[in-house]
Amino acid sequence: MARLRFLGAAGVVSGSRHLVESGGRRVLVDCGLFQGEKELRERNWERFPVPPDTIDAVVLTHGHIDHSGWLPRLSRDGFRGRIWTSPATVDLLGILLYDSAKCQAEDALYANRKGYAKHRPALPLYEERDVDRVLRLLQAVPRDEWFEPAAGFRCRFHEAGHMLGSSFLEMEVAADAPGRTAAHRVVFSGDVGRFDAPLYKDPVPPPACDYLVCESTYGDRDHTPSRPLDELEAATKEAIARGGMMLVASFAIGRAQQLVYLLRTLMAAGRLPEVPVWVDSPMAVDAMEVFRKHGREHDFSEAKMQGVAESLASPFVRMAKNAAESKAINAHDGPGIVIASSGMMNGGRILHHLARRLPDPRTTVLVAGFQAIGTRGRSLIDGARFLKIHGRDIPVKAAVRRVDALSGHADRHEIDRWLGGMPAPRRTFLVHGEPPAARGMAAFLAERRGWQVQVPAIGDTFEMES
Ligand SMILES: [Zn+2]
Repeated sequence: MARLRFLGAAGVVSGSRHLVESGGRRVLVDCGLFQGEKELRERNWERFPVPPDTIDAVVLTHGHIDHSGWLPRLSRDGFRGRIWTSPATVDLLGILLYDSAKCQAEDALYANRKGYAKHRPALPLYEERDVDRVLRLLQAVPRDEWFEPAAGFRCRFHEAGHMLGSSFLEMEVAADAPGRTAAHRVVFSGDVGRFDAPLYKDPVPPPACDYLVCESTYGDRDHTPSRPLDELEAATKEAIARGGMMLVASFAIGRAQQLVYLLRTLMAAGRLPEVPVWVDSPMAVDAMEVFRKHGREHDFSEAKMQGVAESLASPFVRMAKNAAESKAINAHDGPGIVIASSGMMNGGRILHHLARRLPDPRTTVLVAGFQAIGTRGRSLIDGARFLKIHGRDIPVKAAVRRVDALSGHADRHEIDRWLGGMPAPRRTFLVHGEPPAARGMAAFLAERRGWQVQVPAIGDTFEMES
């Protein structure tokens, strides 16, 4: 009997891990880090529900840390199989996972120095050498090409339009034993992107399937019609008028480059005054190279790439690659703009800027992506008056603004558009959504399509019927 086990991203948006078992073989789809509330983050320290050395392979939909960030720990704990993913994701992981290891080392160091660690000494979840090992296990496979991660499993990736290299996965699983004809087709949506997004291709329609495992990040809402330039102009104008710095928490790959490009476009057109823009991320420059190398993966034309490169080379744009350059930003009083990761403010250099600038009423914090429950980004949106950063309560006097147009996740109508003419799967599972979002999407799909939809909990197992 083939089985599907939900080991993460069930009722939450992080820790994506779905295990498929058939004929004594195990294939793990995504291996993400839990992020957000403390209770969730503590799951990162739990023993994996099956011994990692019994997993035959991992198939990875995309590089975001909530889908890939637990891989170094999985390999540290004994996993030695291959990790199948797209060529661009292979290159991005070489940047992202080292950064993740560094963030965790810094967190542990900081916790020890400030003495607020619960465990003494605080240890990082994994280290650079664990990342080295993961990179050796990576197996690049182009989209639309079948591959067999384990006996009895056939898979292929399709464009998901969510980030560079992102895919959704079509998997055929033998009903029982290896070698038999495929009996079940499962589609894992990974994260589904937007249509007509200013950087990525549109997601392609999924094939018919027996079981669908679909994300539901924005399952209970609809984005306002997307006007990225206008929205960014309005928020930035207001921030500049306040006279202080605008802090933009941003994912370093894709989003940061897009923001610089859009801001510079507005400044060049005279729609915004020329103020300095700092990209406080050593990853942003490295990521440009990956974008260049995988030109066919996104719909940035050569001319637009040139535009991004020119924006980054503008005298108004400054790259802070090392810690000293990052600290030098502190001397600037404003107005100005700092773009730094992480996007949900749960780590990275943005924390130092927040700690310094949040008490200043002239500061603006711009939120450009999804903010999970338990992250500092979510607390700010919800109107927190204090934010805990590095063990201290920082008073929030800054203005907080959102720009939805830059979100990378489809809303429920866009998911419906992506599903297109797909006939009803035997069963649809909604993952990667907080409970109201997952329930909202379930109701939406049941009503609109009459589908049998369920929202699994972490640890749920489902037997696929023959
Ligand atoms: Zn993602």
